[in-house]
Amino acid sequence: MYPPRFDYLAPTTIEEVVEALGERAGDAKVMAGGQSLIPVLKLRIASVGTIVDLNGVAGLDGIVDADGELRIGALVRHAQAERSPVLTKRYGLLGETARLVADPLVRNRGTVCGSLAHADPQGDWGSALLAARGSVVVRGSGGERTIPVEEIAIGPFMTTLQPDEVIVEVRVPDPGPRTGGSYLKLERKVGDFATAAVGVQVTLENGHVGQVGIGLTGVGATNVRASAAEDALRGAAPTDDAIREAAELAASAAEPQSDHRGSADYKRNVVRVFCERGLRTAISAAQAGEE
Ligand code: FAD
Repeated sequence: MYPPRFDYLAPTTIEEVVEALGERAGDAKVMAGGQSLIPVLKLRIASVGTIVDLNGVAGLDGIVDADGELRIGALVRHAQAERSPVLTKRYGLLGETARLVADPLVRNRGTVCGSLAHADPQGDWGSALLAARGSVVVRGSGGERTIPVEEIAIGPFMTTLQPDEVIVEVRVPDPGPRTGGSYLKLERKVGDFATAAVGVQVTLENGHVGQVGIGLTGVGATNVRASAAEDALRGAAPTDDAIREAAELAASAAEPQSDHRGSADYKRNVVRVFCERGLRTAISAAQAGEE
């Protein structure tokens, strides 16, 4: 199906992007990779007066690891993240996530920041960046602000972003050397959205769990932080019992719906199993960093 008619703008600065969005008061949308926006328009689930294409704006395609944080620009594609040595080595959770998003065609165009702005509860980046304690830097008519990833999505495809705001980058704090991460995703076939997925990141301090993040995909109205599981692990020795208890708590935090990908009970069980498995992998990697 063809999308409904829209105007198209191709600004070359972020100021022009913000101005174009502001002038059209909610009837304009930014396009980054177009891998979610265009299908939504073609399926006529939504329409938009103007598409403001971000792709002509210079300086948004960098992955920079400096001054204690990782910065991923608004035009960094999933494929670029997948190939980035910084992500595969120092931010292992994010490197693993990148290669599991969609299929190679979508990964070549779709962006990390676009995924966060799209706020699909089945989006992989949302959970990974929850676990990694990411935040986004947003520009709008009122200036610049920083939003923790967990405060972006408020429901399926609904966000706290204002109509004149554009995400310019996502930032992730450097987790330090004794850190391990894992992203485990159950998909019916390669390229599918998650039946359920779990992202974890663990940092060890003196042999005990220090910082820990656990994000769940496809089992709620947004990506879900498994807070009780994180709280139970923080400060604990990484024993089998502690890991099992955290995995149970993560499964309790999941609120999946039964659908064509599986029953709610099945998805909750996947969360429990993947959380336990992911924690073991992450803790082993963190312990290797301690030696
Ligand atoms: P776009 O399509 O350009 O935009 C999506 C939305 O975000 C629009 O509302 C747009 O206005 C807004 N937006 C985009 N960038 C910004 C910005 N910088 N600031 C403010 N708003 C912005 N995703 C997964 O996570 N896992 C999957 O397994 C998966 N499978 C897929 C399979 C298929 C066949 C397809 C077509 C998509 C799949 N996706 C999956 C979605 C894909 O990852 C998209 O790339 C992603 O959701 C959106 O990124 P984008 O850059 O393409 O955004």
